[in-house]
Amino acid sequence: MPRKYVIGGNWKCNGTVAQVSDLVSTLNKAGDFPSNAEVVIAPTFLHVPMVKDAVRSDVNVSLQNCSVDSFGAYTGEIAPEMIADFGLKWVITGHSERRTGFGGQAGETSEIVAKKTKKAIEAGLTVIACVGESLDEREAGNTLKVVLEEHLAAIADALSQEQWAKVVVAYEPVWAIGTGKTASPEQAQDVHASIRSWLSDKVSPEVAEATRIIYGGSVKGSNAGTLADCADIDGFLVGGASLKPEFIDIINAVE
Ligand code: PEP
Repeated sequence: MPRKYVIGGNWKCNGTVAQVSDLVSTLNKAGDFPSNAEVVIAPTFLHVPMVKDAVRSDVNVSLQNCSVDSFGAYTGEIAPEMIADFGLKWVITGHSERRTGFGGQAGETSEIVAKKTKKAIEAGLTVIACVGESLDEREAGNTLKVVLEEHLAAIADALSQEQWAKVVVAYEPVWAIGTGKTASPEQAQDVHASIRSWLSDKVSPEVAEATRIIYGGSVKGSNAGTLADCADIDGFLVGGASLKPEFIDIINAVE
């Protein structure tokens, strides 16, 4: 069965109420999306309820992160069970900004990302699990070591074979995120093919064939079509351009 593209928009810490309303209204007015595209948007926690109520029914609303724990004394956290109870089905884990840490907070280790991914799946969510190397790691020739042996292996160690049905892998080279430097289709396809082959060896050929592997890193309306034509690129996780009407062009590029 052909894999359905996933087009995700990660809004990060962006948007006033007025801007979020505008973005939703742009999506709502956009006409039919390609039937082979699953669209997912991830507003801030604060904006999720208003987006969920207002956005068209064929757009899924995702959280950008979830707690590694369930309900309890975890001030400022959102438990995966809460996300599912609220009627949402998607969450992002392991975004590089969370792995790196910011604002004085420690970053998330691969083990934490794997644990969050597992907890979210157990709560009934589908997870966009991000993996990707930094510029230094790529220049040192360690791209596959980081992506496969560190990021992906931690997730694979935590999940059963069946749980992979609820995972979309997002390959996001850190050097391409928010920098305007997109990986070339060849660079992206090479890593995506390696991820698929690793999944085939370490999990199962069936999981490798079925898992959507999406690309993130300065995707734009102008490069989405060429990237989507690559055999192992099954969609995108889009940051900056998901805050613009251009996001519609990216969705339509997979038709
Ligand atoms: C992202 O934040 O996941 C991302 C890929 O950002 P951008 O598209 O802006 O590079």
